Amino acid sequence: MNVGFIGLGTMGAPMARNVMKRGHALTVFDVVPAAVASIVAAGARAGATPKDVAAASDIVITMLPDAPDVERVALGPEGLVAGIRAGAIYVDMSTIDPATTRKVGAAIADRGAAMIDSPVGKTADAAVAGTLTLMVGGAAEVVERCRPVLDCMGTDFFHCGDLGAGQTMKLVNNLLATAVSEASIEALVAGTRSGLTLDTMMSVLRTTMAWNNALAIALPKRPLAGDFAPGFMMKLAHKDCRLALQMVEGLGVEAPVGRAAFASVEEAMRRGLADDDVGALLKLREEAAGVRVRLETPG
Ligand code: NAD
Repeated sequence: MNVGFIGLGTMGAPMARNVMKRGHALTVFDVVPAAVASIVAAGARAGATPKDVAAASDIVITMLPDAPDVERVALGPEGLVAGIRAGAIYVDMSTIDPATTRKVGAAIADRGAAMIDSPVGKTADAAVAGTLTLMVGGAAEVVERCRPVLDCMGTDFFHCGDLGAGQTMKLVNNLLATAVSEASIEALVAGTRSGLTLDTMMSVLRTTMAWNNALAIALPKRPLAGDFAPGFMMKLAHKDCRLALQMVEGLGVEAPVGRAAFASVEEAMRRGLADDDVGALLKLREEAAGVRVRLETPG
């Protein structure tokens, strides 16, 4: 298939490469020329604008930071809505709010094309490995037509409902993931402050109800190994939490724990950690407690 890919950052670049590796022809666009040059060197064609990319594609994918970026790329001047062919499909894989997804979907439908949302779960490593979790929203027949391309990027596939349902699922996921991460960090810092070793805590927690994937995967991989480079940037976690709480509030559901986790992320943003990995939440708690929590053998 002819596939378009717009947004070649931490996640988009390896996802686009995986699509190309499986034999699809790729046309790409990003506002950062170096990101485009790197994938063009691997065999992709550069599009001049999102409109240009869409005009060349059976399926056009975006992997952008936030909802205003998706609106700009889709609906703006030289946007992909202006170029998309009748019968083609637009797949937004960014994490944004479901209302924006449905607004863009209506503009796509007016052009005789179709849209699905497929935000992703897991980490940048899974984007490289092609093993992402895909949370998909849209008409079943359209989703099925996208499967050969989606399957290049992910192995855990979930059709969550109509257009926007993937985003809803992703926001629910990230509200929980951020809260679990912050709670895990607090517990490890408190334990360290009281004199427990990290090894003791991890060994015990692994056997109890407290165990979770922040403790198992995300924290040992980066912050507990002293690595605060993204990964998943604090500013993206901030955006996801903000959108999740907006959605939850709109539903009339209370989220005191989610709100507390968001307050920690806001504190990190104020402290200049926006471009660090979200694991830098550890730094805040360590500094306040006057301890450092690190694995002796990173990895
Ligand atoms: P990123 O900032 O590394 O990449 C975004 C890319 O979009 C950049 O290359 C940027 O130049 C490009 N871009 C921005 N505006 C553009 C525009 N107007 N036109 C063309 N290109 C534009 O972000 P990322 O970490 O790759 O995340 C992308 C999305 O995936 C976000 O919504 C994020 O929340 C979500 N996500 C990230 C992770 C992760 O671990 N990094 C995991 C799951 C989901």
